Amino acid sequence: MDYNKLADLLYPNITKTPADYDEIYPPRELPQGAKVVRFAPSPTGYMHIGNLFSALIDKLAADSSNGIFYLRIEDTDKKREVDDAIDHIISGLSSYGIIPQEGIMSQIDEIGNYGPYKQSLRCEIYHTFAKELIQKGYAYPCFCSEDDLAANVEQQEKEGVQTGYYGKWAKCRDLTFEEIEEHINNGDSFVIRLKSQGDENKKIIVNDEIKGKLEMPENTQDAVLIKSDGIPPYAFAHAVDDHLMRTTHVVRGDEWVSSLPTHIQIHQYLGLKAPKYAHISPIMKLDDGNKRKLSKRKDPEAAVAYYEEVGYPEGGVLEYLMGIANSNFEDWRRANPDADLRSFPFSFKKMSASGALFDLLKLNDVCKNVISKMSAEEVYDYAIGWAEKYDKELYTLLGSDSDFAVEIFKIDRYNKKPRKDIYAWSQVKDYVSYFYNEIFDKNITFPEDFAKEDINAILEAYAKVYDENHDKDQWFETMKSICEPLGYTPNVKEYKADPDKFKGHVGDVSTVIRVAVTNRTNTPDLYSILKLLGKDEVLARLSVRV
Ligand code: GLU
Repeated sequence: MDYNKLADLLYPNITKTPADYDEIYPPRELPQGAKVVRFAPSPTGYMHIGNLFSALIDKLAADSSNGIFYLRIEDTDKKREVDDAIDHIISGLSSYGIIPQEGIMSQIDEIGNYGPYKQSLRCEIYHTFAKELIQKGYAYPCFCSEDDLAANVEQQEKEGVQTGYYGKWAKCRDLTFEEIEEHINNGDSFVIRLKSQGDENKKIIVNDEIKGKLEMPENTQDAVLIKSDGIPPYAFAHAVDDHLMRTTHVVRGDEWVSSLPTHIQIHQYLGLKAPKYAHISPIMKLDDGNKRKLSKRKDPEAAVAYYEEVGYPEGGVLEYLMGIANSNFEDWRRANPDADLRSFPFSFKKMSASGALFDLLKLNDVCKNVISKMSAEEVYDYAIGWAEKYDKELYTLLGSDSDFAVEIFKIDRYNKKPRKDIYAWSQVKDYVSYFYNEIFDKNITFPEDFAKEDINAILEAYAKVYDENHDKDQWFETMKSICEPLGYTPNVKEYKADPDKFKGHVGDVSTVIRVAVTNRTNTPDLYSILKLLGKDEVLARLSVRV
């Protein structure tokens, strides 16, 4: 068979060669060791936390090596495509500060010299590389229909042999030029298949950056390289693109490991050096003591959108993901509490080969910590930003007097040990609720261990001595001053020495006041709360009786 003639028959309009593209997209001039990595999502409109995780790994790999992180959109499956998915991906990434230096920047813009960065715009390039494979005898057209393929599988199952299109089952492998020409003249649709020379008894070895040495049988299947609509499936598209875009490291989910032999073979037949591969294991969760993959169907936290809806601070989510990405991150963070994430010495080698465990409670702790370190103004800005989208009532309250709201967030914030009450912005409403009569639950519930008369007596006595101009010491002295006449002691030690002698101590008295004012037993500094509420409101709340 004259393969050149065949290639011209199939792709008469392709006049360039892969070598021409190598000139258009020359090797990048980067420092030694710089990694070129890409995030290559399909625009399906749904971003899994695993996607965000892998984009973060891309960015860390590029940043820590002075390399390049670019965004490529793999839109070869038009059926799964969602209209605004690209915006969704870009805004999702940028809200976490994962901003590509190159590639797709919006639905319509891209930057960089290695584009187009949308696969649907690269068909001519794919056809050029496919044409070369045909010329070398490594690819051929296949005219089998769905029915032919199904019949093949049926027969293979009957015979108990491996299913698929390979070896003697690959009917179109041996078509003559004349037979092919006839199909083409009839306008029959065709796919281009790889003519695999693989031997299932031979092994390929790949040294994965994360998983280490992978040993697998060679590929024997005549995989489809170009579909009948002219678009390549993932395997071929990524090989061509990662070569021309000069990717050094392909970071991707480990669901691709099983097709690695095909990917390696495609590179081999194209005469290309395969990039290094870093296969990330899926993020796992503990479910009833069993480790399982975080599931899009079962776990709301699998979706990146979930974190925005709940109002997790992006910085906290990132910190958490860093911790599950690299086992030494937490130690590094302790030693460098204020350092920028970009200065973390990220390494593929420190990633879990079996799958990082995702723990929401741990995430909450990390986020509480992150929020506790923010300024009151930052907390205000984030909270009102979240509320604008997700809670109009909170938005209106916080916006009605921003100085007042910032004062709320200042309470106990700049202490040596700031409180860690909030892990997400959706918790702010509850946190501030007693400062706003519109949402304050006035159905006050006092702890059951207080007698009604004592509660009423404490509130009455305190209302008489309360003075909004007192400083903190005077305030506390005043609270102590009402203890003894009511049968309580101002002295906690004294109480502990002989509890039967008293109804309680000053802490109990302040609890009653705290509950009357806030309807909760645990709050930040009560003195600051009273100050902020102001005299009229405090007196009104102290007038409650049970
Ligand atoms: N488009 C593929 C996906 O979304 C990308 C895999 C890769 O990163 O190579 O799964």
